Amino acid sequence: MSEKSDLRAKKPDDIAAWVRSAGEPSYRAGQIFGWIHKKRCRSIEDMTDLPKDLRRRLAEEFAIYEAVPVKVLESKIDGTRKYLNRLSDGNVIETVLLKYEYGWSICISSQVGCRMGCRFCASGMDGLVRNLTAGEMAGQVYAAESDINERIGHIVVMGSGEPLDNYESFTDFLDIMTDGKGAGISARNITASTCGLVPGIRALADRKYSITLALSLHAVTDEKRRQIMPIANRYALDEVISACRYYRDVTGRRLTLEYSLIEGFNDGDDDMEGLAEISRELKAHVNLIPVNPVDGAGYRAASRRYAETLKNKLEKNNINVTIRREMGRDISGACGQLRRGFINDAALGEQNV
Ligand code: SAH
Repeated sequence: MSEKSDLRAKKPDDIAAWVRSAGEPSYRAGQIFGWIHKKRCRSIEDMTDLPKDLRRRLAEEFAIYEAVPVKVLESKIDGTRKYLNRLSDGNVIETVLLKYEYGWSICISSQVGCRMGCRFCASGMDGLVRNLTAGEMAGQVYAAESDINERIGHIVVMGSGEPLDNYESFTDFLDIMTDGKGAGISARNITASTCGLVPGIRALADRKYSITLALSLHAVTDEKRRQIMPIANRYALDEVISACRYYRDVTGRRLTLEYSLIEGFNDGDDDMEGLAEISRELKAHVNLIPVNPVDGAGYRAASRRYAETLKNKLEKNNINVTIRREMGRDISGACGQLRRGFINDAALGEQNV
């Protein structure tokens, strides 16, 4: 990224401070923030009710960095759109747009790559490249909106990356998106998923955002969880569960437990009993996900039919369960694989030169 600061990543207070230091009247800050996030303006030059000189000074210090779709895959089955977006420094990230009865929901990335290293996940296989700015997170939403020519009402932060490992930018993003003078998206329509960074969960609770928190549980004992999620070596399940309980108590929001079913590993009776117990304790909704096979990871998904059987079992225990709907089956592949394919192709291309 060039040295100009990312205007789309700035919170109202940041913009107000700049406006003050520029000797401009304070209402200009609201205008600038509104142009970017309410009107989705993509160029400082287009902010036509600002004096020309102010626009020039803004443009000297700031830029609006775009996420530019370099590849768009559209599902013929359900309208899901998968974007490979190029950032201003040439890095690429995945964003997925899903169509539901209630409207569009967008699944955005929070980092380029990821350093959590979950064994079944393609996003972290090459480690973390860098954090995204709040502006680059918002940019994924705005780029998709301009592609479909509609506003998007629901956001899930469940693409590549661990949002709580990029805490500052992630919470700036939440502040910006939920601001009524900006994007104005209800916090209740935002879900973020974490592999269980305990201090981040607690800090988020203390900020009292009303977003839905999803915990990637995937195994119900520390021993098993450590086999597939390195983060489990840092935070024991007890601590994670207690942080989640704290989140629920402070925010009053229901939690979701994500549970990817890996055949013969975490889909037995004991696993389901443990899952029911944790879900009861947290009064959490359970989302079963037949694991998406990743090349070389050596895991197989439990069949959809078996997932149904497990769902019925859990429901008999009064647990609220869904099986993640398979969206865009014809364009899918596991999360992160579109990017990996793109990077590998580019590397091959370079070798051929
Ligand atoms: N870092 C966050 C958010 C990104 S991953 C987290 O861990 O929650 C979003 C969800 O997809 C997580 O629940 C993750 O465990 C799951 N996931 C990743 N790879 C998967 C795969 N191959 N099959 C099924 N679920 C997967």
